[in-house]
Amino acid sequence: MHMNILNLFKKKDAVPLKLVCFDLDNTLCEYDAAEAETEAYIADMIYADFLQHKKHPARAKKAKTVRQSKSSTALTLSAILKAFNESKHAHMHKDLEPEQFSRGLWLAETLQKLPVTITPARIKTLSAAYEKAYWDFLIPKLKLYPHTLETLQALKNKGIITACLTDSDGEKGIKIRRMVYLGLDKYLDFIITTDDTKKNKPAIENWEYLLKAVGVLGKECMMVGDHPDIDLLVPKGLGFRTVWTKEHFNTSTHFKYVDHEIHHISDVEKIAKKYA
Ligand SMILES: [Mg+2]
Repeated sequence: MHMNILNLFKKKDAVPLKLVCFDLDNTLCEYDAAEAETEAYIADMIYADFLQHKKHPARAKKAKTVRQSKSSTALTLSAILKAFNESKHAHMHKDLEPEQFSRGLWLAETLQKLPVTITPARIKTLSAAYEKAYWDFLIPKLKLYPHTLETLQALKNKGIITACLTDSDGEKGIKIRRMVYLGLDKYLDFIITTDDTKKNKPAIENWEYLLKAVGVLGKECMMVGDHPDIDLLVPKGLGFRTVWTKEHFNTSTHFKYVDHEIHHISDVEKIAKKYA
């Protein structure tokens, strides 16, 4: 009798899966490699722009340093990259406001930190131009992980709703442009960027917004992401099954709130089958 009651509970808990929600960067597409290349490209661009003020740009470039008239500190490519990374790490996964993830903001902060003389108006103009150059360069470098689209289609064929919940790039249009470039928009029933909720992950409002928009319960959903504390911890509390994808970065670390670990995005299909 006792066993029967337990089985009954098990059956009751095993709610059929209705929705799978994915993080985007380093979950559906390889992002970090494109980002690193882009940061180097933009640092080169900034360096070259400030070299133009020198009398002998070719010679100065060879020396890889530019001495500014009002500063004894050298402007180097590594100083530019260091300043940019300081800004990025001060904001990324720390600030809840979507606009804090704007590359334009990080680039403006980068310019402010450099040993160069520059007016606020010039910072505004340059950071906007660099932000545009940043995304124009990065987007064509993005690559979906193998079998991403096939996996999404296989889920849809099973009648499972597909969704993506991704942090802002400072404004919604930029993230959507990236997803359209990758062709993901055709395979996702719901695309939510944190611009929609005005709070970046891991704010609970994002998953609450998703559940409300689709009209499903947390226990009918699965969340897939590469960043457990950002992507999985909070939805687990709402009843989601959680899948940690280690396609981008393998580690032997495990977390209690992670139900499944995978190394290829195509493994989601097998896990979804178990809950069908
Ligand atoms: Mg990610």
